[in-house]
Amino acid sequence: IFKRYTNESVQETDMELKLGNPIKLEAPKGSNAVLVKNLYLSCDPYMRGRMRDFHRSYIPPFSPGSAIEGLGVSRVLDSDDPNFKRGDLVTGYTNWEEYTLIKKTNELRKIQQDDGIPLSYHVGLLGMPGFTAYVGFYEVCAPKKGDYVYVSAASGAVGQLVGQLAKLHGCYVVGSAGTSQKVELLKNKLGFDEAFNYKDESDLESALTRYFPQGIDIYFDNVGGGMLDAALANMRAHGRVAICGMVSQNNRTDPQSFRNMFSIISKRITIKGFLQSDFIHLYPRFLEEITGYYKQGKIVYIENMNHDIETSPAAFVGLFSGKNVGKQVICVATE
Ligand code: NDP
Repeated sequence: IFKRYTNESVQETDMELKLGNPIKLEAPKGSNAVLVKNLYLSCDPYMRGRMRDFHRSYIPPFSPGSAIEGLGVSRVLDSDDPNFKRGDLVTGYTNWEEYTLIKKTNELRKIQQDDGIPLSYHVGLLGMPGFTAYVGFYEVCAPKKGDYVYVSAASGAVGQLVGQLAKLHGCYVVGSAGTSQKVELLKNKLGFDEAFNYKDESDLESALTRYFPQGIDIYFDNVGGGMLDAALANMRAHGRVAICGMVSQNNRTDPQSFRNMFSIISKRITIKGFLQSDFIHLYPRFLEEITGYYKQGKIVYIENMNHDIETSPAAFVGLFSGKNVGKQVICVATE
């Protein structure tokens, strides 16, 4: 569900959009809210979990009938919060619509526009997925120079940065992805040592043995299921597995069984699930370091940009069949 205000003739200076549900283009006095124009909306796999009422989830479900809530980059049009003013660029939770009245302004972060950095990167490289890669790799995987690192969904929003950080750390890095185009990107643009298309492999366990004859020290797991099981079988003693996501399981109703759980004991593997939000105190350090790496040309970031808000639902669904090449973003407006 997403809302579109279709009256193209409406100017931002107009006080009212005369549509099905008229909204005033102002932040009501006393609301402490900000009225924003959304520029970039982020499509993220975790949003799938908000489409069912799952009591063990860490985030509440969406409310049917309301616009989808998600991360975005927006421009402030009007503010009743003294911390924001018209023209400010902000990132944080907004809605899948063109204009949003944001009430939880304490969760918004102001963006200093930097011509060297695309604005959309604030929902990708410098946003939640980039931060997930950063804390997942450095804080959860406890990497050491020379470690053998495996990353699944490696060309995606999170995986592409994990692999590049691992390379900068002096690790040997292999990534897997679901198309030959993505495999090429991993090897030729993102600097992975090796990459393979997991869909071409009939036996994931032996594929990983082929790429890691000496075993895996770190597995950064974005997909779960059979891939996690195959990685467990290939871990080295005292290996670390960061459970970041289980995108392969999102749409399944039948849980996949694991054959290699005993490896956890026999190889003394540390498996740790994490949420990026647990490490939020590290955000300023992350921004500084990753911005630096980007400006020095040490990392690159690939986006899959859609240019029409109408395509948002399809772009979202595409995450679960691998249609996106890089971070999936919807451009709603550029200014
Ligand atoms: P991506 O940009 O990687 O997009 C999802 C990708 O998953 C697709 O492009 C596809 O790539 C792959 N995929 C889809 N279905 C399957 C499947 N059945 N089996 C294997 N791969 C599949 O997403 P993100 O980088 O944003 O997220 C990656 C993971 O990280 C997700 O699991 C997400 O939930 C998790 N996450 C966790 C966070 C945390 O705090 N723990 C925060 C942010 C994300 P391909 O073509 O290669 O198959």
